Amino acid sequence: MQTRYSFFNSSLNNSSSHEVRIIPHSTFHIPHSFIIFATMNMMKDIKVIAFDADDTLWDCQSHFEEVEKEYASLLEPWGTPEEVSAALFSTESGNMPLLGYGCKAFTISLVENAISFSHGEIKAGFIDRIVQLGKSLLELKATPLPGVKETIQQLAESKRYKLVVFTKGELLDQQNKLNRSGLAGYFDNVVIVSDKTTEEYTKLCHMNGIKINELLMVGNSFRSDIEPVLKLGGYAVHIPFKVEWKHEAMESYSHEHLATIKNISELLDTQLNQFRR
Ligand SMILES: [Mg+2]
Repeated sequence: MQTRYSFFNSSLNNSSSHEVRIIPHSTFHIPHSFIIFATMNMMKDIKVIAFDADDTLWDCQSHFEEVEKEYASLLEPWGTPEEVSAALFSTESGNMPLLGYGCKAFTISLVENAISFSHGEIKAGFIDRIVQLGKSLLELKATPLPGVKETIQQLAESKRYKLVVFTKGELLDQQNKLNRSGLAGYFDNVVIVSDKTTEEYTKLCHMNGIKINELLMVGNSFRSDIEPVLKLGGYAVHIPFKVEWKHEAMESYSHEHLATIKNISELLDTQLNQFRR
């Protein structure tokens, strides 16, 4: 699979996919709160905190589900929403090796599935509506989830860690979402890959000059954000989101390098005490 890396600063609009630009940490200094101080001691060996983006920093999946609901209503003459959903999942899964993840891949699957599901009967006007539905996802608000901005800001201002966004999906779409979120300036770099494999996590560590046990990965998907990191010997914080894409679904399990929290702000809390050595 193709791998794309993009390191950026707050002026993402001008970045190219292979350009490497590292920004200095924020020069804005705030006194360390007790909470931050406690957290830093707990994670004393961690040098890089990597954050998943979709459904960790902002809501994404529920927007996909809204689109899918409207899509199912367009295909109502040919089947139930459950049948549409099952057929779409199968089309998406079949396309994944070549198209990967993201809105563009999803839109192609929506169109392809609409044609096959309707036995070629669907009219061009409906196809146009489906394309518009898919494209609407490229403009979803990317409003930071509760606690995200404050937590990332405090971690950035503590200057104790390098903060990285590590996400899969489409380069331009993910960069745009990060810009719209208003969070871009807090991160030292962004790495966008076509899939979050153990190889990609190993590369992430090499690129940042750290050992795997100096990485803490934070994300909502146990399959993509947690398991590969635990397998390699890194640390992970799982923040399950209210909705999960079927493709990411897997049983979670406990692990001595894993903490599960409900809100990202708990990253600054004593729950991470388990990582103390
Ligand atoms: Mg995610």
